Amino acid sequence: MTQLTDATSDPGSDPTTDPATGRVPDDLPDRIRHYVDGAFVDSVDGGTFDVLDPVTNETYVQAAAGQKADVDHAVAAARRAFDDGPWPRMLPRERSRVLHRIADLVESRDARLAELESFDSGLPITQALGQARRAAENFRFFADLVVAQADDTFKVPGRQINYVNRKPIGVAGLITPWNTPFMLESWKLAPALATGNTVVLKPAEFTPLSASLWAGIFEEAGLPRGVFNLVNGLGEEAGDALVKHPDVPLISFTGESRTGQTIFANAAPHLKGLSMELGGKSPAVVFADADLDAAVDATIFGVFSLNGERCTAGSRILVQRDVYEEFVERYAAQAQRVRVGYPHDPATEVGSLVHPEHFAKVMSYVELGKTEGRLVAGGGRPEGFETGNFVAPTVFADVPPTARIFQEEIFGPVVAITPFDTDDDAVALANDTVYGLAAYVWTNDLKRAHNVAGAIDAGMVWLNSNNVRDLRTPFGGVKASGLGHEGGYRSIDFYTHQQAVHITLGKVHNPTFGTN
Ligand code: NAD
Repeated sequence: MTQLTDATSDPGSDPTTDPATGRVPDDLPDRIRHYVDGAFVDSVDGGTFDVLDPVTNETYVQAAAGQKADVDHAVAAARRAFDDGPWPRMLPRERSRVLHRIADLVESRDARLAELESFDSGLPITQALGQARRAAENFRFFADLVVAQADDTFKVPGRQINYVNRKPIGVAGLITPWNTPFMLESWKLAPALATGNTVVLKPAEFTPLSASLWAGIFEEAGLPRGVFNLVNGLGEEAGDALVKHPDVPLISFTGESRTGQTIFANAAPHLKGLSMELGGKSPAVVFADADLDAAVDATIFGVFSLNGERCTAGSRILVQRDVYEEFVERYAAQAQRVRVGYPHDPATEVGSLVHPEHFAKVMSYVELGKTEGRLVAGGGRPEGFETGNFVAPTVFADVPPTARIFQEEIFGPVVAITPFDTDDDAVALANDTVYGLAAYVWTNDLKRAHNVAGAIDAGMVWLNSNNVRDLRTPFGGVKASGLGHEGGYRSIDFYTHQQAVHITLGKVHNPTFGTN
């Protein structure tokens, strides 16, 4: 395909010094299609939608726009593979081998995956590479877990044995967002497949490129035909049809809280199993006794990595008053040094936001922030990036809890800093939003650390730590950040029925009716 030019680069410049050189990956597909029953297909009605390059905002490819008819085909294929195919009936060890091969293939293609993901989403290439490796790890983890899995057995001596017969549920509908798309797809695909379900994946319309790579990876790894199906398209069309399909008993959704509410309502008439990983506005609480060097570093990374397009971003920093001014000064200085650049450049720390619509949303919050707080870093486009979706790391201090930039998820490289005095103030501020996904607490006082962590309404808390997660731990939010938990065996629980089987060992225990 034609190399896209970038408006910020001088077309006549020396390609060895032009920072945009090598920006567009070789061998991009000429179109993105659905994958149904082992074959790439166009939409039944031939419809497509534009996919934009987030650096130029020009259309670089057309993707098939799935509608109800396409979802119907994909669900029918997945249903056949579930009812008649080998996958749900294979031994866990056999499925595990396929999953390990998938992990091997993802690892061996990590550079290509990262290149495509970075190009499609605007994520910095080094961070996209980390996400590709995490995707492989997700498959490896669930491959091991289903083999090690033990289910409950309960014995009433001499009378009864009860055991759990764990069964895959059927066709799982997986709906994913555009931030770290490939990794978040793996997070659902791996446990859904490991437990013997078949799937229909509906990836985010802003970033459909990497999802189509799953098809080749799965084929090579030996996943039977029809087990994995992919329908591209808009949320309100393809996503909606999947949610409303009567033959899809499970929906695992990651995305905005508002979309989660719509899906919840639309799934209600079918009483589907729902897992909802939603938005966040997570606090990072820094006490005066904390290791400030580590706290500044980690809270910078916590909001500016992945372009700030991260559900668990610590986008509200609460700082104890004794160290507040020092913290703000150091934080602002470091934020100004964070390197914004082209996504494909290994030196880039913040790339380009995913899409012009999202860029406009983030920029509107940047402008709003100027009326709600004290701007101490960033506040607009970074120098040298006059086009594309680039936003300078932006820091607002003295942000009151009533401010919209304190309350609402911005999902970009923008952070609000607010002072507090006591532990109680910190907890009250931390809990003063509708969200409850993650929290970070920085203190060297052991008791305070545990007490504050326990008092914060968040599904996950990190103490003196960045967002580093052991795959065995529960993942999920409370309040508007989610319903249900995945992670470790909780994902296994979501994707399986636990049928209880009760067996009499001794005399049948049964009051006899109707003898007189
Ligand atoms: P989004 O809600 O706009 O879209 C997510 C997915 O839902 C997309 O595939 C979209 O096409 C689909 N969709 C939209 N409307 C739909 C409908 N009516 N029916 C069915 N599907 C529909 O979210 P986004 O903007 O892509 O992602 C960003 C959001 O995701 C942020 O709020 C972020 O916090 C959240 N997120 C949460 C987690 C978590 O684990 N809690 C992880 C990553 C992202």
